[in-house]
Amino acid sequence: MIREALVLACTSDIAGKVRGKAFSEQDLDKRLQRGIGWTPTNVQITCFDAIADSPFGALGDLVLIPDPATLVTAEFEDEKPAERFVFGDILQTSGEAWQCCTRSILKAALARFEAKTGLQLLGAFEHEFHLKGVSAPHGRAYTAAGFRDQREMGETLTALLRRAGLEPDTFMKEYGVDQYEVTVSPSQGVTIADQAAILRELVYITAEHLDQRASFTPLRDPAGVGNGVHIHMSFRDAEGNAATYDPNGTHGLNRVAGQFIAGVLKYLDRILAITAPSVVSYTRLTPHRWSAAYNNLGFRDREASVRICPTSDVSDIAKRDQFNFEFRAADSAASPYLALAAIVHAGTQGIDEGLDCPAATEEDLSLLSTEELTSRGYLRLPQTLEAALENFGSDPIVTEWFPDDFVDVYLRHKKGEIAFLEGKTEAEICAAYEETY
Ligand code: GLU
Ligand code: MG
Repeated sequence: MIREALVLACTSDIAGKVRGKAFSEQDLDKRLQRGIGWTPTNVQITCFDAIADSPFGALGDLVLIPDPATLVTAEFEDEKPAERFVFGDILQTSGEAWQCCTRSILKAALARFEAKTGLQLLGAFEHEFHLKGVSAPHGRAYTAAGFRDQREMGETLTALLRRAGLEPDTFMKEYGVDQYEVTVSPSQGVTIADQAAILRELVYITAEHLDQRASFTPLRDPAGVGNGVHIHMSFRDAEGNAATYDPNGTHGLNRVAGQFIAGVLKYLDRILAITAPSVVSYTRLTPHRWSAAYNNLGFRDREASVRICPTSDVSDIAKRDQFNFEFRAADSAASPYLALAAIVHAGTQGIDEGLDCPAATEEDLSLLSTEELTSRGYLRLPQTLEAALENFGSDPIVTEWFPDDFVDVYLRHKKGEIAFLEGKTEAEICAAYEETY
């Protein structure tokens, strides 16, 4: 049948959705210059398609300019056509970044961090997801059999990731029912989030290609484990040398890394509405799910919001090059651009304020009373999206990190998302998120 290849120019938006418009591949060069038209109110389309209250109404026009560095061709080398997509920046027609462009928001956060420290951020998103409607038998957690169930998925995905310029790291059967995890090697700057957005699309595309459906929902079943996103971070200096590790620093962190983590944890209860932005995110962020429930640092502790990851003496990679920490209070309902932007701003704020590196906790914080927690400087993270949004919107330091009007748009968007779920049972809410993510 006759056909002409199309490239989808896309954006990862406030809803954590990838939306876009396709153009002929023949026009790629022209489109890299001219972009495609975009509509401001699109940003208020929630993950459930209902349009939240929009300050833009039917007015205004924007332009989405693709960045060729993110161009992906997912070619399966079978009879089905390749998938082509490219991420970009949303600009006003005058050429300035649009206030709700998530990629531009991340670029601004990274510029702030780089200007402050002279360092570059290196990082990678570790993703969990599950395959829907598979019903593999029980007893599959971390097993070889569970891996073999989805070997084709894993191998196809690995090939597509590599061709897309990502460096595949691992693919494994996770603990949850039909749950898998995929990791890639770190990259630098805005590419960290580009790669996360690309990886999610490639997981969806690969699953669909194999007549399956993948879901990144933060929580499929309140009785089960969640699908987390763990954002690994470390720093590089201007010469490209690792700049996070100090053998004499607290838990091996150098001064700037300790301050960065202190800032992330200080502002965590106010950025959670960005990093874990769904209603079900808050059931995932409860104790004993290996996610995050308190604003604590952990040394290799999988229940900490920020965890210092292990290094291994048997690796061929030097310890200071392996050394990194991960942010665990994130999920895939968040645009990777926004989640990383919020973390980078909070971390840079910690450096601005010269905060001290916190000590890592080594116990189960859920056993402490509120008084004990408070006296040690910890707090239980917000337990609903509404509470998290209230914290986010009411701190002038935090709202200042984002462009004018962004916070108002974000809060209205999330209110629209919550309103859609009104009257639904917990099971129905989980099902709605499983469907949409
Ligand atoms: N599934 C857990 C989460 O929701 C993470 C498990 C792990 O440590 O890999 O974050
Ligand atoms: Mg995992």
